[in-house]
Amino acid sequence: MTDHSSDRPATVVCHAGREPEAYHGFLNTPVFNGSTVLFQTLDDLEAANAGTFPGYAYGRYGNPTAASFEACIAALEGAYQSLATASGVAAVTVPLLSFLNSGDHLLMVDTAYGPTRKFCDQELTRLGVEVTYYDPLIGAGIEALLKPNTRVIFLESPGSLTFEVQDIPAIVAVAKPRGIVTMIDNSWASPLYFQPLKHGVDISIHSATKYINGHSDIVIGVVSATKEAFPRLKQGYGNIGAVPTAQDCYMAQRGIRTLAVRVKQHEASALELARWFEKRPETVKLLHPAFASCPGHEVWKRDFSGSTGLFGVLLKPYPRKALEAMMNGMRFFKMGYSWGGYESLMMPFSPQAVRSATRWQHDGLNLRIHAGLEDVADLLDDLEAGLKRLNAAA
Ligand SMILES: *Cc1c(COP(=O)(O)O)cnc(C)c1O
Repeated sequence: MTDHSSDRPATVVCHAGREPEAYHGFLNTPVFNGSTVLFQTLDDLEAANAGTFPGYAYGRYGNPTAASFEACIAALEGAYQSLATASGVAAVTVPLLSFLNSGDHLLMVDTAYGPTRKFCDQELTRLGVEVTYYDPLIGAGIEALLKPNTRVIFLESPGSLTFEVQDIPAIVAVAKPRGIVTMIDNSWASPLYFQPLKHGVDISIHSATKYINGHSDIVIGVVSATKEAFPRLKQGYGNIGAVPTAQDCYMAQRGIRTLAVRVKQHEASALELARWFEKRPETVKLLHPAFASCPGHEVWKRDFSGSTGLFGVLLKPYPRKALEAMMNGMRFFKMGYSWGGYESLMMPFSPQAVRSATRWQHDGLNLRIHAGLEDVADLLDDLEAGLKRLNAAA
């Protein structure tokens, strides 16, 4: 692989995972569409059967396009190795299935991404895994929730929808001496603004659908591991077979090259929108990790090197018809799942149905905002007109 001997992330995103000398000088690793890989000798075939063949053996077990993408993520995350998965959800479920046995206890953060929670409640419990949800702000207090069979602590920071920032070092300090595996969904920060493995976490997870790919045109995930955690993860990954296509690995890799400039702009625009909301009379509270009103803000300041484009804002209560007048008339902030792409998105949310360890107190209108890459002046105009419709229809 090309020497990317810089630890400055903006340089790493441009250079990591490239190997032009292997492809006639062409800069980018091509798309290796393929299932069968031919072996030159019977020795090689037998080595592949035994799992000791050092090269590529079969499409499902990897290809140079996936390896290029994975090398780039591993460099950014400070990981021993990374593995590309078929979706962000597969990047969550593969490590959980790889490390949990029937009879084990899982501590799952109460603010986990909705489908992560669903996987725990509908699949892991069915397989005999005991799941306890914990308050994202619990910190060192997580020790009180440990059981003799606690095998994994799963984190997501900031939390989905409500943005609580977790004290990751405090939780790792409880887990590590007991041999409990820690995993984190790191999608919000992107690999640029937080590197969980450097804080002692064993497994870092991304929905690469979001900032890494950044163009809302594929679904893909990636899991990164320490040297100690990698062999177990790799075995589970191989057995589960939830791998992305080479084409999607290529797309994600292409996204990474501009990740640093994109994320910087998402960050700047989101901060500007959040500051604007802060001054509006409709606003009750901002849920943006870079603002003091966000639970865990101090921890964010200590551990993260930036913020991204996704945040929440809690407004006063409004009737549904007012919300409808605002939402249906937005010019740039469209309604749709996901985030991390070039386009702005806005969604009302109500977290109470997906919380069990904590209680959601706010009964006003909650909006999740994703600041896209449009000119921020247009975004502010759109929001201004939107709030006008909201008030007029109330
Ligand atoms: C979107 C998302 C996922 C799932 O990613 P997909 O690529 O859509 O499967 C996982 N975690 C978080 C925090 C997400 O926002």
